[in-house]
Amino acid sequence: MPRFRPILDTMPAYKPGKAVTTSDGRSYKLSSNESPYEPLPSVVAAIAEGARLVNRYPDPGAVELTEALAGRLGVPAEHLALGAGSVTVAQQLFESVGDPGVEVVYAWRSFEAYPLLADLAGVTSVRVPLAGEDHDLDAMAEAITDRTRMVFVCNPNNPTGTAIRERELVAFLDRVPEDVLVVLDEAYREYVRDESVPDGLTLYRDRPNVCVLRTFSKAYGLAGLRVGYLVGHEPVAAAVRKTIVPFAVNQLAQVAAVASLAAEGELLERVERVVKERTRVREALIAQGWEVPPTEANFVWLRLGERTMDFAAACAVEGVAVRPFAGEGARVSIGDPEANDAFLAAAAGFRTS
Ligand SMILES: *Cc1c(COP(=O)(O)O)cnc(C)c1O
Repeated sequence: MPRFRPILDTMPAYKPGKAVTTSDGRSYKLSSNESPYEPLPSVVAAIAEGARLVNRYPDPGAVELTEALAGRLGVPAEHLALGAGSVTVAQQLFESVGDPGVEVVYAWRSFEAYPLLADLAGVTSVRVPLAGEDHDLDAMAEAITDRTRMVFVCNPNNPTGTAIRERELVAFLDRVPEDVLVVLDEAYREYVRDESVPDGLTLYRDRPNVCVLRTFSKAYGLAGLRVGYLVGHEPVAAAVRKTIVPFAVNQLAQVAAVASLAAEGELLERVERVVKERTRVREALIAQGWEVPPTEANFVWLRLGERTMDFAAACAVEGVAVRPFAGEGARVSIGDPEANDAFLAAAAGFRTS
């Protein structure tokens, strides 16, 4: 019997959102915060064209995409590091800091990949409970010790949707020692409408220990191709580039991301439609009597406690897949209007059952 690291036995398997279908064929996947829109024709054309090159390895430096991103974001190319999705970039960060005994601090509940990546890297997770549905930044600052090498701040937070405002975040950053890396995970940045929520790109510039994670998976609709990136000062970006598995960002992902940046206006119109639907869904839920924390992401959060799994089952009967966290609550992505209506009907039925 081959022997594996003992930590593997203690790690829960990652549970991806699963589709559910009713007997009459209705299926609404609101479990993974994906874009409800099919890729733009221009992006499909770029992928089709790129398909003719897949006998070759991709450009390991992703030069074209890196330059397009640097221009778009107004950052030096040396400040960028790409990965096969921003989860992989996060994994590269864990690999970069992960010696035994090292601690990584993050809020909990937050993005479920953090504990898995920490376990895999052999570092110790220090989970700081949310205050209500928000990051408790005071407690997070107090949780930093001599052993802390990295802090994850998910803004807006997955799965609660809440966002940290500039004043609080800056005050927190000012308390973090310079040799501790702060990772601002901004997977949902494009959905933020509250102007007091800072753009991490403005915060990292004069802070060498702050970096930002972004992804093409959500607002840009490329979840299936796996491409995300980090923006940080050169030593941080260089560490991530060193820990990448060679050729991790494939050719189709690279060309699709470049085409998506070229079509950004159209994509951001879609984001705006999702934001409008977010407002409609939240207000409808509140009118039904639910408590729904304000959300700056493309999902809503319902703290259902012990009723969570029953709620997910009731949604599944209507063909709506949500993302339940047993004993805590359910995260429901904002989809197209038809999917959202199906979810609202399921939620209304659950309240009166
Ligand atoms: C979805 C998500 C990501 C993005 O993951 P990819 O690997 O880029 O698809 C990163 N962080 C958070 C918090 C997310 O919810």
